[in-house]
Amino acid sequence: MPLVTSKEILKEALANHYAVGAFNANNMEQIQGIVEAAAEEHAPVILQVSQGAIRYAGLEFAAGMVKIAASLVDVPVVLHLDHGTDFLQNVRCMRAGFTSLMFDGHDLPLEENIAITSRVVEIAHAVGVPVEAELGKVLQVGVSMDEVLAAMTDPDEAAEFIAKSGADSLAVALGSIHAMESRNASLDIERAKAIHAAIPEVPLVLHGSSGVKHESVVDAIQHGIAKINVATYLNQAFCEALGEGIEKMPKNTDPRKYLSLSRDAVKERVREKIRLFGSSGVISAGGGFVSPKRSFRSAELGGSEA
Ligand SMILES: [Zn+2]
Repeated sequence: MPLVTSKEILKEALANHYAVGAFNANNMEQIQGIVEAAAEEHAPVILQVSQGAIRYAGLEFAAGMVKIAASLVDVPVVLHLDHGTDFLQNVRCMRAGFTSLMFDGHDLPLEENIAITSRVVEIAHAVGVPVEAELGKVLQVGVSMDEVLAAMTDPDEAAEFIAKSGADSLAVALGSIHAMESRNASLDIERAKAIHAAIPEVPLVLHGSSGVKHESVVDAIQHGIAKINVATYLNQAFCEALGEGIEKMPKNTDPRKYLSLSRDAVKERVREKIRLFGSSGVISAGGGFVSPKRSFRSAELGGSEA
């Protein structure tokens, strides 16, 4: 089906206490693995294009591949910008057909983060595209525990931020860290509860999930986390399968024989995450939500929804 926006699928996820996986789309094989798993699991899915993917594949190429992948399946697929760096990049993504945007101003002073997020929201909402914002810092691997604690999202600030910026969803820092390769971090669930109580209508987004314990992820989903980003865990699978393939078939000269192993490995990890997040089976064979019964509306670019 055509791409859909993140607005409605995240609202649905928030109301029904599951989370939608947002998987990073770097190349054709990863995109195929992600979308095939979502289709087989009858789950809505977000494919997100990171800054690294934009540098690697180019904005138009990444967007084009996701659109084609979405057109081949009967589950809702969103094309999302991950960690948008500035206002103009968001404009370029809208032109390229993204159905979900992000401005990440977590490094800026609060007022400046609000000001730029508001500008992105104003133009995006004019054509029905929702916007994710980020408040609090999800740091990169290598930082100390004190730094992680100091960077967490403040619930009162979150309420002020949403009221002033109009953002549709909010990436929050609950103690996870980007690019972690082990899985032993716990989230600050009390903080998730407080943020969710302060902005109950706003789907919260968890970045850096690859290093978080499963129990903690499942807990957070009960307290407002409705979108979970997964990148490192898929990249690991892709590379491991590639390495094993080369080891087993050192004389092979057909790259497809290696890359199809990577595609399958990514697909199985996406399936595992979809099941963990509780989004398996929420889409009917016709492409609508199973429960509560409602028809699914595709992105109406040019309309004035949201
Ligand atoms: Zn992130």
